[in-house]
Amino acid sequence: MKTLTVALPGREYDILIERGLLAQTGQRVRAVLPKAAKLAVVTDSNVEPLYGKHVLDSLTAAGFEAELFPIPAGEESKNPSQLARLWEGFMNFGLTRTDGVVALGGGVVGDLAGFAAATVLRGVALVQIPTTLLAQVDSSVGGKVAVDLKAGKNLAGAFYQPKLVLMDPDVLNTLNLPRFMDGMAEVIKYGCIWDAEFFDFLTARLSRESLMADIEHILYTSCDIKCKVVIEDELDTGLRMILNFGHTLGHAYELTGHYVEWSHGEAVAAGMCAAAKLGVSLGTTPPELPGRLEDALASLGLPTLIHCTAEEYAAAIGLDKKGAGSDITLILLDQMGHAVPHKMPKARLMRLLNSFNQVP
Ligand code: NAD
Repeated sequence: MKTLTVALPGREYDILIERGLLAQTGQRVRAVLPKAAKLAVVTDSNVEPLYGKHVLDSLTAAGFEAELFPIPAGEESKNPSQLARLWEGFMNFGLTRTDGVVALGGGVVGDLAGFAAATVLRGVALVQIPTTLLAQVDSSVGGKVAVDLKAGKNLAGAFYQPKLVLMDPDVLNTLNLPRFMDGMAEVIKYGCIWDAEFFDFLTARLSRESLMADIEHILYTSCDIKCKVVIEDELDTGLRMILNFGHTLGHAYELTGHYVEWSHGEAVAAGMCAAAKLGVSLGTTPPELPGRLEDALASLGLPTLIHCTAEEYAAAIGLDKKGAGSDITLILLDQMGHAVPHKMPKARLMRLLNSFNQVP
């Protein structure tokens, strides 16, 4: 078992990583919630038939009264009406302040159930059981929970840390290949922004089989990097912005594909490549770095270039809630394994994007 302790003062919790861990859900949750009687297990329509009963049985064996609260799978469910439906469902179930919510699923379930846990009864205990690679290495770590609004993604939310995160790498075996590689884009990102050795480790294993052979190490290292960043900057006012490497331009690609053509991981992969090339143009990134990154991502079947119109870039840059005023802070790499924020006028970024043929 690999254990990572997230040392946030007063809200310390563990991330446990082990194959087959799902079978131990009950006893692991009991250890952190000794007084809880009821657990509301939020899941989605794909995950419920795969793992719902297994988790429920384990929780029941540990003495909990547990009930499943399934939502339809997909980003469309991460909305205020599903949130309200969960609140009402929790109350009908008789959840009290000493009980808890378990998020069993990908990032959609984690964000929605997490926000429901943060707000119902002014906050009840939350346990995250992430079941996608993206959720394991990214969304379940760091405490951001949210729903989407008509005006945009993640616009209503909170910072709310779980009591425990349980990661069973075996659940990744039921993910389809594109979903698995989606998560790999974020894993590669951690190597880029923080740990060149980890990047090299990954590039020596660019198939699903070889990555799965070392998946516990990959999950541990990814979460460790994210935790280090989050502990220093829990409320996202400084260092945490390096986690956005590839995301500002990735946002433009998600917009251009109306969130359908390109998945988040695909958009981030192309966004990282664009940011690496921008970094070279700006004299920050070593010239050989974009090629290394493109080779790694292409071997995983991830896109390294997505075309986008000038208007779409402008919309993404203007809408990006991380950009302040008329300046934008892009995350660049000054070497493999190290990221630096680079503030520049949005107009200059647009000229650069136009100049290197990203805009058709
Ligand atoms: P998702 O939750 O929609 O899951 C993707 C698909 O995989 C869904 O159809 C789901 O039903 C299915 N699935 C989940 N686990 C499975 C399994 N083990 N086997 C088979 N199918 C499975 O999407 P995601 O990619 O996990 O997460 C994306 C969401 O995460 C977005 O809403 C994004 O905003 C959010 N996110 C949040 C943070 C954060 O810090 N809170 C960070 C990154 C992303």
